[in-house]
Amino acid sequence: MEIKAIRGFNDILPDEIGKWQFVEKLARQIFEGFGFSEIRIPVVERTELFARGIGEATDIVEKEMYTFTDRSGNSLTLRPEATASMARAYLEHQLYTFDQVAKLYFIGPMFRYERPQKGRYRQFYQIDAEVFGVENPSVDAEVITMLMHFLKEVGLENLELQINSLGCRNCRPQYRGALKDYLEKRSFQLCEDCQRRLSTNPLRVFDCKVETCREALGEAPKVIRYLCPECQDHFKKVKKFLSMAGLQFILNPAMVRGLDYYTRTAFEVVSYQLGSQNAVTGGGRYDNLFQEIGGLDIPGIGFAIGMERLVSLIPKEKGFRPSLSLFIAALGERAYQEAYQLVHQLHLQGVRVEWDYEGRSLKSQMRRADKLKARYVLIIGENELTSGKALLRNMEDKSQEELPLDNLVTLLKKKVQD
Ligand code: AMP
Repeated sequence: MEIKAIRGFNDILPDEIGKWQFVEKLARQIFEGFGFSEIRIPVVERTELFARGIGEATDIVEKEMYTFTDRSGNSLTLRPEATASMARAYLEHQLYTFDQVAKLYFIGPMFRYERPQKGRYRQFYQIDAEVFGVENPSVDAEVITMLMHFLKEVGLENLELQINSLGCRNCRPQYRGALKDYLEKRSFQLCEDCQRRLSTNPLRVFDCKVETCREALGEAPKVIRYLCPECQDHFKKVKKFLSMAGLQFILNPAMVRGLDYYTRTAFEVVSYQLGSQNAVTGGGRYDNLFQEIGGLDIPGIGFAIGMERLVSLIPKEKGFRPSLSLFIAALGERAYQEAYQLVHQLHLQGVRVEWDYEGRSLKSQMRRADKLKARYVLIIGENELTSGKALLRNMEDKSQEELPLDNLVTLLKKKVQD
């Protein structure tokens, strides 16, 4: 039986890859312009890092992690997100000794055992950016501004930036208590998971997709009303800095984000073109994460963009597959040898050139050149070898010209790469 990929794990085929390369290149360029540097983190970490970082009573940790025991009996997990790993790397390598502020970005796959559907996969890619070491609200606004600038440069329209504040360890407990009281009165409406969440982590009821749980939340108290003066001030300044940067946003008091580490600023960008899985990106501040994973008291803020959703929003006509500059059609053994030499030398010069390894008929070679959308075809046969000239055909305007066989590499490189 033919072996197929696992459900929720996708291939990204050559036809689509151009869009992926385009967004990755743009992210690198824009983020580096904002002072960020790339970091690469491992695919696998100790389970403990995510359990403590993301929170034991979150959907990700409770039921979505790819966790396994390795041959030495260690519990390991395929990373479900990047922030905890980036924080771990920052602490482990003491990046704070170089500069108090670290601006890092990361591009790579994440793994969550979710129910696959359009826009939701078990392996999916994220572009992550994080700033460690700054508590000032101006950095919250800068991170969001960079994100919105990037999405605009990708060419996305009709996006909505939603923001909220989730409070801090001083004011969140009061809110948690108020939410718990409210939900307890409606516990008969809650699903089994949410009934459990009531005692473990009532905020997580906001993540539940069950209709009756959503209804139960209808009149739920809003975290924003419970902010302490410091958190209120922080949020006010974030909004002011966002306005100064010319960004429009709406307040979404029900947005709590699915991970426990968020404090204060939380944000999401949604696209109404996406259907039910409409969040392109989300992020926020996490001033307790470093301590949760056993490190120093370091504030952080960042976001993660879902690449599958991002790429799906890029219009179809933006075809990015690199076109073939040249196809060399050779006829006969001597021409085949000549073509081999030419292809070899042009490859070393960086010219995207193809030819027919099997030396088939001219007709089938031309058909293939057409299919590969070659911009030029060079034809070499016995006659051309005798006359010392090869025929170069422009496949767009169908014009033809003869080129001398000596010095052909230089001539071709110049012609086809113009
Ligand atoms: P999160 O790390 O949950 O805050 O998600 C950040 C972004 O990653 C979301 O806004 C989505 O665009 C994307 N994302 C999260 N989970 C998935 C998934 N299972 N499949 C595809 N994209 C996802």
